Formats: sequence, C-alpha cells, structure tokens
Amino acid sequence: GFRMGIVGLPNVGKSTLFNALTRTAAAQAANFPFCTIEPNVGDVAVPDARLEKLAAIAGSKAIIPTRMTFVDIAGLVRGASKGEGLGNQFLANIRECDAIAHVLRCFEDDDITHVEGKIDPVADAETIETELMLSDLESIERRLANLARKIKGGDKDAGDQVRLLKLAQVALEEGKPARSVEVTEDDARNWRLLQLLTSKPVLFVCNVEESSAANGNSQSARVAEMATKQGAGMVVISARIEEEISQLDAEEAEMFLGEMGLEEAGLDRLIRAGYDLLGLQTYFTIGPKEARAWTIKKGTLAPQAAGVIHGDFEKGFIRSETIAYDDYIAGKGEAGAKEAGKFRVEGKTYEVKDGDVLHFLFSG
Ligand code: GDP
Repeated sequence: GFRMGIVGLPNVGKSTLFNALTRTAAAQAANFPFCTIEPNVGDVAVPDARLEKLAAIAGSKAIIPTRMTFVDIAGLVRGASKGEGLGNQFLANIRECDAIAHVLRCFEDDDITHVEGKIDPVADAETIETELMLSDLESIERRLANLARKIKGGDKDAGDQVRLLKLAQVALEEGKPARSVEVTEDDARNWRLLQLLTSKPVLFVCNVEESSAANGNSQSARVAEMATKQGAGMVVISARIEEEISQLDAEEAEMFLGEMGLEEAGLDRLIRAGYDLLGLQTYFTIGPKEARAWTIKKGTLAPQAAGVIHGDFEKGFIRSETIAYDDYIAGKGEAGAKEAGKFRVEGKTYEVKDGDVLHFLFSG
C-alpha cells in the first residue's frame, strides 16, 4: 500500500490529526477495522462516494473501500539532521514513506507553546525542509564514498547511482530540495530507489483555529502561496474539529459539519489530496457479494491493475471486462450498460481509467 508520513514541528497538531484520522468511522469501516500495526501507523479508508452508489445498484452485501497508510512521525526538530530530538530514527521513518504531509501550525493559542516562539508556518516549513536537505546531503556523501569503492571493484550499476546522486547533490548544495531535479522517465525508477527525503512529494496541511476551518486564515494564505510556488499540495484543516468529528457517528458528524459551514470532513479532503499527490486512482470490482475499490498508479495497464488483487490475476491475465463508472451509473448496472453498448472487452495494453468497473478473466 501507499504510505503518507505526517511530519511537523512539535505542538503543531500532528498527533491530534493522526488520532482523528485513525479513529473515524470511515477508518474503522466494516470488514477492515482500524488495526494498530504500530502505535504511530494507521490504515485509513479512502473516502469515495462512488463506491456506495455502485454497491446500491449491484445490491452488494459488503462495501470495501481502498486504504492508505498514515504514519505519525514525531521528533522532527531543528537540528534533527545532527541527531537532535529523535534524530536519525525518525528520518528512517520518512524514508519509508511515499509522500510527506507536513503539518503547519496556523492557529494562535497562547496556552500552547510554539517551539520557535512565534506563529510563522512559512518559516517552520523552511526549518523542517532544511533539516531534510541536510540529512539528504549527508546521506549522499556517505553513499558516494561507498559507491566509489564499488566502482573500483567493477560494479556497473554503481555508476548510474553515482550520476543520480550527484544530480541531487548539486541541487541540495544550491539550497533546493531533490524534488526540484527533473529526471528522465528512464531514470525515474532508480531515482525513487534513492529514497531521498526531499525527493518525496509534499502536502502542506494548515492546522487553523476552528473558526477558520471553512476559509482558512492569513497564515494559511501565505502557505497557499508557498505551495503554489513549489508545486506542492495544500489543505486547510482544523485538527480540533476533526478530533471532535472522529468521536461522532456518521449522522451526527454530518450535522456538526453543517453547523460549522463545512461541506465535508477535512480528513476526507486530506486523504484525497494525498491520493492525488501520489498520482493514484481507483478502479472498482462490483458484485452481489462485495463492492470494492482498488488503488493503482495513474497509467497502470490492465494486467498490473489485476495484479493488485492477486499475483495470479496478473500472470494469467486474459482480458478485462470494462464499464466506465458513468456508464455503469447511467445503465443502472451491468445489464443496462451492455444494452447501451458501453460494455467493453479490453486486453493487455489497456490503460485503466479512474472509476472503471472491471472484471478480470484469467487462466491458471
Ligand atoms: P504534535 O506535537 O504536533 O503531535 O501536536 P499535538 O497534536 O500533540 O498538539 C499539541 C497541542 O496543541 C495539544 O494540546 C492540542 O490539543 C493543541 N492543538 C492541536 N490543534 C489545535 C488547534 O487547531 N487549535 C488549538 N487551539 N489547539 C490545538
């Protein structure tokens, strides 16, 4: 599955947010109760209203959303790259994540200490980014030294790694994160395998006071500007509100959201923003037993999409019966979609689209 690491300075609201994420009704949805893998790792349902609509049409007994993993990575402070706070331990946690949700304190509250002494989310973002850049630089230097030895020993792959590490090093030395480096499609995989902290996509999460949850405040506006410049994602959220909502049932939650002038829970927006940031999309398998959502990367071909369900589906892939989501809804199900000529049989080179309802045929 895909992992999103929640980082930020102390006292910005990370734990509040993480607890809300993992306690909501959605997180504990049928069949997949929230399970604590580790105290700071939570598996969360990706909210998708389409799934319920499909299930209603097909009369599916069970609804199984797709999941995303969130990791609460505490201990990031100024000096972390030099071993301050939890130092290297939490850096390793970030390395294992596919993207970073960076929580920024945008709320005023004199009772809650700000580690840097004042509310300035843009400066806080820079503080954390600097630590991550320093950590990347250090790890690059260490790795280059190791690789130099391997190259002497005749290791060919090492040369490629050296080339990519040096690209990152140049950017970092100019004070730019590794994600600012443009790599070719051929290099994309090896680049990812370097697992540089600053190469991961970033989503800024502005934690605002309750009254600003709907429209943000002047601080979150500054973050929005920064996010646009960097090509990062951004959501405004009130961790306090989300904490309250997470303790309500679905009906109460909806009423509460209405009273706050919110259309949907901030967490739903957060999860979806993370999903988009990672370049993910959803396809569905729909039947009388269950309606289920599956996560794939955009651009995934049908056999690899099938492989998300089971390795054998990919190995023995023959074809995929395919109905686009809108066609399924318009036809009120498979039979209607068929009658309308919207039922397609697709082969190995079919690129799965977001919302496709698929049925795989395979041998083996
Ligand atoms: P972490 O250190 O980043 O994990 O921060 P916590 O989630 O533990 O929050 C630190 C403190 O800030 C706690 O006392 C929270 O209740 C409080 N807090 C979190 N979000 C908000 C908020 O939106 N408004 C206010 N006033 N306090 C908040």
